[in-house]
Amino acid sequence: MAARIDHDAAELEALRVLSASVGADPLLVQGAGGNTSLKEAGLLWIKASGTWLMNAATTDIMVPVELAPLLDAVARKSPAAEKADQFTPADLNPHRLRPSIETTVHALLPQKIVVHVHCVETIAIAVQANAEALLEERLRGLDWAFVPYRRPGLPLAQGIAERLQPRTNVLVLGNHGLVVAADTVAAASLLLRRVTGLLARPPRAAPPPDVDALIRLAMGSGYRLPVAVEAHAAATDLASCRIAASGSLYPDHVIFLGAGSVIAGPNENADAVVARTTAAGQPAPASILFPGKGILMRRDANAGAEAMARCLPDVAARIDPAARVNYLSLEQNAELLNWDAEKYRQELNRSSAATLQ
Ligand SMILES: [Zn+2]
Repeated sequence: MAARIDHDAAELEALRVLSASVGADPLLVQGAGGNTSLKEAGLLWIKASGTWLMNAATTDIMVPVELAPLLDAVARKSPAAEKADQFTPADLNPHRLRPSIETTVHALLPQKIVVHVHCVETIAIAVQANAEALLEERLRGLDWAFVPYRRPGLPLAQGIAERLQPRTNVLVLGNHGLVVAADTVAAASLLLRRVTGLLARPPRAAPPPDVDALIRLAMGSGYRLPVAVEAHAAATDLASCRIAASGSLYPDHVIFLGAGSVIAGPNENADAVVARTTAAGQPAPASILFPGKGILMRRDANAGAEAMARCLPDVAARIDPAARVNYLSLEQNAELLNWDAEKYRQELNRSSAATLQ
């Protein structure tokens, strides 16, 4: 028994190290996105909601969930499966962390280790109308399944349950991301590297931003330059800008930046864009794309919004301009924005952003 516990402790430690390295790569995980888990003795240890994988090696971000009652709640389509906090043994959760809103994804896979990432290489394929055909070409020989887009939580869990085969260890989630599963951390890490390598394609090169013009466009407004210089490519690469202008590609974009992207007109500065959007009953946008010039962020944009502003060009630059893209529908955007569990995650991010400033 002692040997088994030692082994599990070593695996949990290995998972924390893998989580931190995956979380530090913006091409795999952005902000509080992505999550990892380990199953042992009837418990699922999963990343807590709102925490960042990047901090996994230095902070206690894993929370235990009782696997059997959670799977039972999924089978009964009970809303309790979405938050999963009622299945968390209080004595093992001293910081009262809440399990990830994506806990059900991990619970449904039988393997001991599950890694879920918002890999930009995967998303760039998973938003395309012919995603399954593209995946078939690249993932031939692997036990993969494609799960068409559903809202994270119970709907996604049901979508996964419909597609899962006994040997499936790679899931590509439509308009969302990638899941890999294995019985050891080392095998999960190898599989993640293998799949992301097979799905990788070089991004289109983007012209540099026109920072002087952006500073003029921001003057006197509540907007500023983004933290990551890479974020400008969403506007300086006009093909990416067109993709962004057409709608929302994946859930975390909607949650942190709002539905779709706001594009400035040729003669609009930041103030003019805000006047236009507020006149239409919309809030001041978290980010504004100035085609050919770059992007501006609302002054109070948090670290999650910054991460998603950079993710947009990282995904869009890997989508062929001629590709047929599936955007989230109005209803799909709305269900993300009205989702209580997400509001909780946003609050956590707001408070973590405050401490960063
Ligand atoms: Zn996800």
